[in-house]
Amino acid sequence: MRKNVIAGNWKMNKLLGEAVQFVEDTKDKVASKEQVESVVCAPFPFLPSLVEKAKGTDLEVAAQNMHFEDKGAFTGEVSPAMLADIGVTYVVLGHSERREMFAETDETVNKKAHAAFQHNLTPIVCVGETLEQRESHQTMNIVENQVNAALEGLTEEQVKQTIIAYEPIWAIGTGKTATSEEANEVCTHIRNVVSNSVSQAAGEALRIQYGGSVKPTNVDELLAQSDIDGALVGGASLEADSFLQLVEAGK
Ligand code: PGA
Repeated sequence: MRKNVIAGNWKMNKLLGEAVQFVEDTKDKVASKEQVESVVCAPFPFLPSLVEKAKGTDLEVAAQNMHFEDKGAFTGEVSPAMLADIGVTYVVLGHSERREMFAETDETVNKKAHAAFQHNLTPIVCVGETLEQRESHQTMNIVENQVNAALEGLTEEQVKQTIIAYEPIWAIGTGKTATSEEANEVCTHIRNVVSNSVSQAAGEALRIQYGGSVKPTNVDELLAQSDIDGALVGGASLEADSFLQLVEAGK
């Protein structure tokens, strides 16, 4: 049985005091890591304080992006070595907002996935189609290409530890959720793609989250699907109560 991963993606929200308060309010209430993985994906300046606060609890702290190089002349960037050094354990890669607004490509996502494993960071790799692509029946192709490109060159063991977040772009922040069947159909396809291109065992082990307007009222139905192993949640992860309800649903 695959364990669910519930990750709250705060995006560019909160100030330090609010972020620390959120962790204070949730760290001892999230379910045990044996049952579900609970992750908050926070802006860079908050990470050291949040890691410190969450130490020894079942709450994990993630970054929302990183560079793929360890160090160098990359003004404004943050390296995987820096994240690992302060105790961050997960990193979101290739979120559609980064692909759309910050020139993230399949190639950079792949480099970042390799870099993540070099530093023992678990990558949450985001894939998903636009509305236009869905309407022209390209969803499966687009997602398949994104998944294969992101995982290229990783070992079977690394693929097993990777988390893919399937996020149809038209469902992000819009209040429009893919139906659970629509979401599962794509997640099943992703699993088959990995089974074929890497191995059956990797396909079975890899966790696939759904993301896009997930909230406490629709999470149960999504998580009940055969190939959905968690959720990457934006808006509904900003309040501690709502995040805790989502984690509870993931048990
Ligand atoms: P949303 O965002 O839950 O606000 O739709 C999801 C995401 O972008 O990860």
